[in-house]
Amino acid sequence: MWQAEVRVDLDAIRENVSWLRSGSAAELMAVVKGDGYGHGMVPAALAALDGGADWLGVCTLDEALTLRREGITAPILAWLLAPGLPLHEGVAAGIDLGAASVAQLDEMVQAGRTAGRPAQLHLKIDTGLSRGGATVSDWPGLLTAAAKAQADGTVEVVGVWSHFVYADAPGHPTTDRQLAVFHEGLDMVEKAGLRPRYRHLANSAATLTRPDAHFDLVRPGLAVYGLSPVAGESFGLRPAMTARARVMLTKQVPAGAGVSYGHTYTTERDSTLAVIPLGYADGVPRSASNSGPVHLGGVRRTISGRVCMDQFVLDCGDDPVAPGDVAVLFGSGRNGEPTADDWAEAVGTINYEIVTRFGSTRVPRSYD
Ligand code: PLP
Repeated sequence: MWQAEVRVDLDAIRENVSWLRSGSAAELMAVVKGDGYGHGMVPAALAALDGGADWLGVCTLDEALTLRREGITAPILAWLLAPGLPLHEGVAAGIDLGAASVAQLDEMVQAGRTAGRPAQLHLKIDTGLSRGGATVSDWPGLLTAAAKAQADGTVEVVGVWSHFVYADAPGHPTTDRQLAVFHEGLDMVEKAGLRPRYRHLANSAATLTRPDAHFDLVRPGLAVYGLSPVAGESFGLRPAMTARARVMLTKQVPAGAGVSYGHTYTTERDSTLAVIPLGYADGVPRSASNSGPVHLGGVRRTISGRVCMDQFVLDCGDDPVAPGDVAVLFGSGRNGEPTADDWAEAVGTINYEIVTRFGSTRVPRSYD
Protein backbone atom coordinates (compact mmCIF):
# COMPACT_ATOMS: atom_id res chain seq x y z
CA MET A 1 0.00 0.00 0.00
CA TRP A 2 1.44 3.36 -0.98
CA GLN A 3 0.80 6.75 0.56
CA ALA A 4 2.17 8.72 -2.37
CA GLU A 5 3.85 7.51 -5.49
CA VAL A 6 5.23 8.41 -8.84
CA ARG A 7 4.08 5.81 -11.32
CA VAL A 8 6.05 5.41 -14.53
CA ASP A 9 4.56 3.74 -17.55
CA LEU A 10 7.58 2.13 -19.22
CA ASP A 11 5.44 1.05 -22.17
CA ALA A 12 4.81 4.70 -22.88
CA ILE A 13 8.57 5.31 -23.00
CA ARG A 14 9.06 2.33 -25.33
CA GLU A 15 6.24 3.49 -27.54
CA ASN A 16 7.41 7.11 -27.69
CA VAL A 17 10.94 6.06 -28.61
CA SER A 18 9.77 3.59 -31.18
CA TRP A 19 7.60 6.25 -32.80
CA LEU A 20 10.36 8.87 -32.74
CA ARG A 21 12.86 6.38 -34.12
CA SER A 22 10.58 5.38 -36.98
CA GLY A 23 10.14 9.02 -38.02
CA SER A 24 13.73 9.48 -39.14
CA ALA A 25 16.59 7.68 -40.82
CA ALA A 26 18.87 9.10 -38.13
CA GLU A 27 19.91 7.04 -35.12
CA LEU A 28 18.35 8.07 -31.82
CA MET A 29 20.04 9.02 -28.56
CA ALA A 30 17.55 8.88 -25.68
CA VAL A 31 18.56 11.55 -23.18
CA VAL A 32 18.26 10.06 -19.69
CA LYS A 33 20.15 12.64 -17.62
CA GLY A 34 18.55 14.11 -14.50
CA ASP A 35 17.49 10.64 -13.34
CA GLY A 36 15.70 10.09 -16.62
CA TYR A 37 13.90 13.44 -16.27
CA GLY A 38 12.64 12.11 -12.94
CA HIS A 39 11.43 8.79 -14.35
CA GLY A 40 14.40 6.78 -13.04
CA MET A 41 17.52 6.77 -15.20
CA VAL A 42 18.12 3.04 -15.46
CA PRO A 43 14.53 1.86 -16.04
CA ALA A 44 14.00 4.72 -18.49
CA ALA A 45 17.21 3.84 -20.32
CA LEU A 46 16.26 0.17 -20.57
CA ALA A 47 12.78 1.02 -21.84
CA ALA A 48 14.21 3.47 -24.37
CA LEU A 49 16.67 0.86 -25.64
CA ASP A 50 13.81 -1.63 -25.88
CA GLY A 51 11.90 0.92 -27.92
CA GLY A 52 14.76 1.17 -30.41
CA ALA A 53 17.10 3.85 -29.02
CA ASP A 54 20.63 3.44 -30.38
CA TRP A 55 22.40 5.69 -27.89
CA LEU A 56 21.92 7.08 -24.39
CA GLY A 57 22.79 10.66 -23.50
CA VAL A 58 23.67 11.92 -20.02
CA CYS A 59 25.35 14.93 -18.52
CA THR A 60 27.68 13.62 -15.87
CA LEU A 61 30.39 11.00 -15.81
CA ASP A 62 28.69 9.47 -12.76
CA GLU A 63 25.44 9.05 -14.65
CA ALA A 64 27.28 7.33 -17.51
CA LEU A 65 29.23 5.03 -15.19
CA THR A 66 26.02 4.10 -13.36
CA LEU A 67 24.48 2.99 -16.66
CA ARG A 68 27.53 0.84 -17.39
CA ARG A 69 27.53 -0.62 -13.87
CA GLU A 70 23.92 -1.64 -14.49
CA GLY A 71 25.13 -3.68 -17.43
CA ILE A 72 24.03 -1.35 -20.22
CA THR A 73 26.39 -1.79 -23.16
CA ALA A 74 24.78 0.64 -25.62
CA PRO A 75 26.82 3.67 -26.75
CA ILE A 76 26.67 6.47 -24.18
CA LEU A 77 27.65 10.12 -24.51
CA ALA A 78 28.40 12.23 -21.40
CA TRP A 79 28.86 15.94 -21.96
CA LEU A 80 28.99 17.99 -18.75
CA LEU A 81 32.52 17.40 -17.54
CA ALA A 82 34.24 19.78 -15.13
CA PRO A 83 38.04 19.74 -14.96
CA GLY A 84 39.77 17.12 -12.81
CA LEU A 85 37.30 14.25 -13.16
CA PRO A 86 38.57 10.67 -13.49
CA LEU A 87 37.78 10.68 -17.19
CA HIS A 88 39.97 7.60 -17.73
CA GLU A 89 37.25 5.60 -15.94
CA GLY A 90 34.79 6.78 -18.56
CA VAL A 91 37.17 5.98 -21.40
CA ALA A 92 37.87 2.54 -19.94
CA ALA A 93 34.12 1.95 -19.71
CA GLY A 94 33.67 2.88 -23.37
CA ILE A 95 31.84 6.12 -22.67
CA ASP A 96 32.02 8.82 -25.34
CA LEU A 97 32.86 12.29 -24.07
CA GLY A 98 31.72 15.71 -25.21
CA ALA A 99 34.66 18.08 -25.71
CA ALA A 100 34.24 21.82 -26.04
CA SER A 101 37.73 23.27 -25.58
CA VAL A 102 41.39 22.48 -26.11
CA ALA A 103 41.81 22.21 -22.33
CA GLN A 104 39.10 19.54 -22.21
CA LEU A 105 40.61 17.79 -25.18
CA ASP A 106 44.00 17.69 -23.40
CA GLU A 107 42.38 16.10 -20.37
CA MET A 108 40.73 13.53 -22.62
CA VAL A 109 44.05 12.75 -24.33
CA GLN A 110 45.50 12.06 -20.88
CA ALA A 111 42.47 9.98 -19.94
CA GLY A 112 42.97 7.90 -23.08
CA ARG A 113 46.63 7.34 -22.23
CA THR A 114 45.74 6.26 -18.69
CA ALA A 115 42.96 3.98 -19.91
CA GLY A 116 45.15 2.49 -22.62
CA ARG A 117 42.72 3.24 -25.41
CA PRO A 118 41.79 6.36 -27.39
CA ALA A 119 39.12 8.57 -25.87
CA GLN A 120 36.05 8.68 -28.14
CA LEU A 121 35.08 12.31 -28.53
CA HIS A 122 32.18 14.39 -29.77
CA LEU A 123 33.41 17.93 -30.47
CA LYS A 124 30.84 20.54 -29.59
CA ILE A 125 30.46 23.83 -31.41
CA ASP A 126 28.49 26.67 -29.87
CA THR A 127 26.16 27.74 -32.67
CA GLY A 128 24.42 30.41 -30.60
CA LEU A 129 23.34 29.10 -27.19
CA SER A 130 26.40 30.59 -25.47
CA ARG A 131 26.53 27.69 -23.07
CA GLY A 132 28.57 24.54 -23.73
CA GLY A 133 30.59 24.23 -26.93
CA ALA A 134 33.52 26.01 -28.52
CA THR A 135 32.74 29.47 -29.85
CA VAL A 136 33.00 29.84 -33.59
CA SER A 137 36.31 31.65 -33.12
CA ASP A 138 37.73 28.84 -30.96
CA TRP A 139 36.43 26.10 -33.29
CA PRO A 140 39.40 26.02 -35.73
CA GLY A 141 41.86 25.71 -32.82
CA LEU A 142 39.87 22.85 -31.30
CA LEU A 143 39.71 21.08 -34.66
CA THR A 144 43.46 21.44 -35.23
CA ALA A 145 44.23 20.05 -31.77
CA ALA A 146 41.71 17.21 -32.22
CA ALA A 147 43.07 16.30 -35.65
CA LYS A 148 46.60 16.14 -34.22
CA ALA A 149 45.50 14.02 -31.25
CA GLN A 150 43.62 11.70 -33.57
CA ALA A 151 46.68 11.35 -35.80
CA ASP A 152 48.70 10.52 -32.67
CA GLY A 153 46.16 7.81 -31.84
CA THR A 154 45.18 9.29 -28.46
CA VAL A 155 41.60 10.22 -29.38
CA GLU A 156 39.03 9.27 -31.94
CA VAL A 157 36.64 11.98 -33.10
CA VAL A 158 33.34 10.15 -33.32
CA GLY A 159 30.95 13.08 -33.41
CA VAL A 160 30.42 16.78 -33.98
CA TRP A 161 27.45 18.39 -32.36
CA SER A 162 25.64 21.45 -31.05
CA HIS A 163 22.44 22.39 -29.23
CA PHE A 164 19.49 24.59 -30.19
CA VAL A 165 18.26 27.73 -28.47
CA TYR A 166 14.73 28.05 -29.83
CA ALA A 167 13.71 24.73 -31.37
CA ASP A 168 10.64 24.78 -29.11
CA ALA A 169 9.40 27.85 -31.00
CA PRO A 170 8.94 26.44 -34.53
CA GLY A 171 9.79 29.00 -37.18
CA HIS A 172 12.08 31.02 -34.94
CA PRO A 173 14.84 32.51 -37.12
CA THR A 174 17.57 31.64 -34.60
CA THR A 175 17.13 27.96 -35.47
CA ASP A 176 17.96 28.61 -39.13
CA ARG A 177 20.93 30.73 -38.14
CA GLN A 178 22.23 27.98 -35.86
CA LEU A 179 21.83 25.42 -38.62
CA ALA A 180 23.85 27.61 -40.97
CA VAL A 181 26.61 28.01 -38.36
CA PHE A 182 26.58 24.25 -37.81
CA HIS A 183 27.01 23.60 -41.53
CA GLU A 184 29.94 26.04 -41.64
CA GLY A 185 31.43 24.27 -38.62
CA LEU A 186 31.05 20.94 -40.42
CA ASP A 187 32.85 22.29 -43.50
CA MET A 188 35.78 23.18 -41.25
CA VAL A 189 35.69 19.69 -39.73
CA GLU A 190 36.12 18.26 -43.18
CA LYS A 191 38.91 20.68 -44.04
CA ALA A 192 40.69 19.65 -40.82
CA GLY A 193 40.69 16.10 -42.17
CA LEU A 194 38.24 14.77 -39.59
CA ARG A 195 35.49 12.40 -40.69
CA PRO A 196 33.25 11.92 -37.63
CA ARG A 197 30.56 9.31 -38.07
CA TYR A 198 27.93 11.33 -36.19
CA ARG A 199 26.76 14.89 -36.68
CA HIS A 200 24.00 15.72 -34.21
CA LEU A 201 21.98 18.74 -33.24
CA ALA A 202 18.30 17.90 -32.69
CA ASN A 203 16.66 17.88 -29.25
CA SER A 204 13.00 16.77 -28.96
CA ALA A 205 11.60 19.89 -30.56
CA ALA A 206 13.88 19.69 -33.57
CA THR A 207 13.39 15.93 -33.81
CA LEU A 208 9.66 16.60 -34.05
CA THR A 209 9.65 19.69 -36.25
CA ARG A 210 12.96 20.01 -38.13
CA PRO A 211 13.86 16.95 -40.22
CA ASP A 212 16.56 19.08 -41.86
CA ALA A 213 18.35 19.09 -38.48
CA HIS A 214 18.34 15.33 -37.94
CA PHE A 215 21.75 14.63 -39.53
CA ASP A 216 23.03 11.21 -38.34
CA LEU A 217 21.63 11.16 -34.82
CA VAL A 218 18.81 12.90 -32.94
CA ARG A 219 18.92 13.54 -29.18
CA PRO A 220 15.38 13.73 -27.76
CA GLY A 221 14.84 13.84 -24.02
CA LEU A 222 11.45 15.30 -23.14
CA ALA A 223 9.58 13.52 -25.95
CA VAL A 224 10.93 10.16 -24.79
CA TYR A 225 8.87 10.68 -21.64
CA GLY A 226 5.79 11.61 -23.65
CA LEU A 227 5.86 15.33 -23.05
CA SER A 228 5.79 17.94 -25.75
CA PRO A 229 8.38 20.69 -25.99
CA VAL A 230 6.04 22.83 -28.12
CA ALA A 231 3.19 24.61 -26.34
CA GLY A 232 -0.23 23.52 -27.57
CA GLU A 233 1.06 20.51 -29.60
CA SER A 234 1.03 16.99 -28.18
CA PHE A 235 2.37 15.21 -31.31
CA GLY A 236 0.44 12.15 -30.07
CA LEU A 237 3.10 11.41 -27.46
CA ARG A 238 2.14 9.36 -24.41
CA PRO A 239 3.12 10.89 -21.04
CA ALA A 240 4.84 8.28 -18.89
CA MET A 241 4.62 9.78 -15.40
CA THR A 242 1.70 9.96 -12.96
CA ALA A 243 2.08 11.59 -9.53
CA ARG A 244 -0.54 10.72 -6.97
CA ALA A 245 -1.22 10.41 -3.24
CA ARG A 246 -3.90 9.10 -0.95
CA VAL A 247 -5.94 11.48 1.15
CA MET A 248 -4.43 11.24 4.63
CA LEU A 249 -7.17 12.93 6.61
CA THR A 250 -10.44 14.72 6.03
CA LYS A 251 -12.05 17.23 8.36
CA GLN A 252 -15.08 19.48 8.49
CA VAL A 253 -14.43 23.18 8.98
CA PRO A 254 -16.81 26.12 9.08
CA ALA A 255 -16.96 28.95 6.55
CA GLY A 256 -14.21 31.46 7.23
CA ALA A 257 -11.58 28.92 8.30
CA GLY A 258 -8.04 29.97 7.38
CA VAL A 259 -6.12 27.13 5.75
CA SER A 260 -2.41 26.28 6.04
CA TYR A 261 0.51 28.60 6.89
CA GLY A 262 -0.24 32.28 6.59
CA HIS A 263 -3.94 31.66 6.03
CA THR A 264 -3.61 32.62 2.37
CA TYR A 265 -6.83 30.70 1.73
CA THR A 266 -10.10 30.99 3.65
CA THR A 267 -13.09 28.69 3.19
CA GLU A 268 -16.16 30.41 1.80
CA ARG A 269 -18.60 27.91 3.24
CA ASP A 270 -18.71 24.96 5.60
CA SER A 271 -16.31 22.58 3.91
CA THR A 272 -14.59 19.23 3.92
CA LEU A 273 -10.85 19.66 3.78
CA ALA A 274 -8.67 16.84 2.45
CA VAL A 275 -5.07 16.71 3.62
CA ILE A 276 -2.72 15.30 0.96
CA PRO A 277 0.64 13.94 2.13
CA LEU A 278 2.86 15.58 -0.48
CA GLY A 279 4.79 18.81 -0.16
CA TYR A 280 7.77 20.67 -1.46
CA ALA A 281 10.13 18.05 -0.03
CA ASP A 282 8.44 15.69 -2.46
CA GLY A 283 8.62 17.91 -5.52
CA VAL A 284 5.39 19.89 -5.25
CA PRO A 285 6.55 23.45 -5.96
CA ARG A 286 5.66 25.88 -3.18
CA SER A 287 4.53 28.18 -5.95
CA ALA A 288 1.63 25.75 -6.43
CA SER A 289 0.08 27.30 -3.31
CA ASN A 290 -3.48 28.29 -4.30
CA SER A 291 -2.80 27.33 -7.91
CA GLY A 292 -1.74 23.67 -8.37
CA PRO A 293 -4.46 21.51 -9.98
CA VAL A 294 -5.35 18.15 -8.41
CA HIS A 295 -7.92 15.55 -9.48
CA LEU A 296 -9.82 14.05 -6.55
CA GLY A 297 -13.22 12.35 -6.48
CA GLY A 298 -13.71 12.94 -10.20
CA VAL A 299 -13.29 16.70 -9.82
CA ARG A 300 -10.37 18.93 -10.72
CA ARG A 301 -9.59 21.11 -7.71
CA THR A 302 -7.01 23.71 -6.82
CA ILE A 303 -4.63 23.48 -3.86
CA SER A 304 -6.05 25.55 -0.99
CA GLY A 305 -3.51 27.68 0.82
CA ARG A 306 0.23 27.17 1.05
CA VAL A 307 2.03 24.02 0.04
CA CYS A 308 4.01 22.91 3.12
CA MET A 309 7.13 20.76 3.21
CA ASP A 310 5.19 17.50 3.47
CA GLN A 311 1.54 18.21 2.79
CA PHE A 312 -1.08 20.44 1.25
CA VAL A 313 -4.82 20.86 1.63
CA LEU A 314 -7.74 20.69 -0.81
CA ASP A 315 -11.03 22.39 -0.06
CA CYS A 316 -13.58 19.85 -1.29
CA GLY A 317 -16.67 21.84 -0.30
CA ASP A 318 -19.46 19.37 0.41
CA ASP A 319 -18.15 16.64 -1.90
CA PRO A 320 -17.86 13.18 -0.35
CA VAL A 321 -14.13 12.57 -0.01
CA ALA A 322 -12.62 10.14 2.47
CA PRO A 323 -9.20 9.13 3.80
CA GLY A 324 -7.58 6.72 1.35
CA ASP A 325 -9.13 8.28 -1.75
CA VAL A 326 -6.57 8.84 -4.49
CA ALA A 327 -5.66 12.39 -5.49
CA VAL A 328 -3.88 12.62 -8.84
CA LEU A 329 -1.63 15.62 -9.28
CA PHE A 330 -0.81 14.90 -12.89
CA GLY A 331 -0.78 12.07 -15.37
CA SER A 332 -1.54 11.40 -19.00
CA GLY A 333 -4.71 13.50 -18.83
CA ARG A 334 -6.76 10.65 -20.28
CA ASN A 335 -8.89 10.26 -17.16
CA GLY A 336 -9.57 13.90 -16.52
CA GLU A 337 -6.48 14.42 -14.39
CA PRO A 338 -4.19 17.43 -14.93
CA THR A 339 -1.04 16.95 -16.98
CA ALA A 340 2.51 18.06 -16.28
CA ASP A 341 1.78 20.83 -18.80
CA ASP A 342 -1.17 22.00 -16.67
CA TRP A 343 1.11 22.07 -13.64
CA ALA A 344 3.80 23.94 -15.51
CA GLU A 345 1.29 26.56 -16.55
CA ALA A 346 -0.21 26.82 -13.06
CA VAL A 347 3.12 27.41 -11.35
CA GLY A 348 4.95 29.33 -14.06
CA THR A 349 7.54 26.78 -15.12
CA ILE A 350 8.08 24.17 -17.84
CA ASN A 351 6.94 20.55 -17.97
CA TYR A 352 10.61 19.46 -17.81
CA GLU A 353 10.92 20.86 -14.30
CA ILE A 354 7.64 19.39 -13.07
CA VAL A 355 8.51 15.77 -13.88
CA THR A 356 12.17 16.11 -12.95
CA ARG A 357 11.42 17.49 -9.50
CA PHE A 358 8.67 14.97 -8.76
CA GLY A 359 10.99 12.13 -9.62
CA SER A 360 14.01 12.92 -7.50
CA THR A 361 12.58 12.93 -3.99
CA ARG A 362 11.50 10.56 -1.24
CA VAL A 363 8.34 9.67 -3.15
CA PRO A 364 8.67 6.03 -4.18
CA ARG A 365 8.55 5.29 -7.87
CA SER A 366 6.77 2.28 -9.25
CA TYR A 367 6.71 0.96 -12.78
CA ASP A 368 4.03 -0.48 -15.04
N1 PLP B 1 20.91 17.51 -25.97
C1 PLP B 1 21.44 18.26 -24.98
C2 PLP B 1 22.84 18.74 -25.09
C3 PLP B 1 20.68 18.60 -23.87
O1 PLP B 1 21.21 19.33 -22.88
C4 PLP B 1 19.34 18.15 -23.81
C5 PLP B 1 18.49 18.52 -22.67
O2 PLP B 1 18.49 19.58 -22.16
C6 PLP B 1 18.84 17.37 -24.85
C7 PLP B 1 19.64 17.07 -25.92
C8 PLP B 1 17.41 16.90 -24.85
O3 PLP B 1 16.57 18.02 -24.91
P1 PLP B 1 14.98 17.83 -24.89
O4 PLP B 1 14.64 17.28 -23.56
O5 PLP B 1 14.46 19.20 -25.11
O6 PLP B 1 14.68 16.89 -25.98
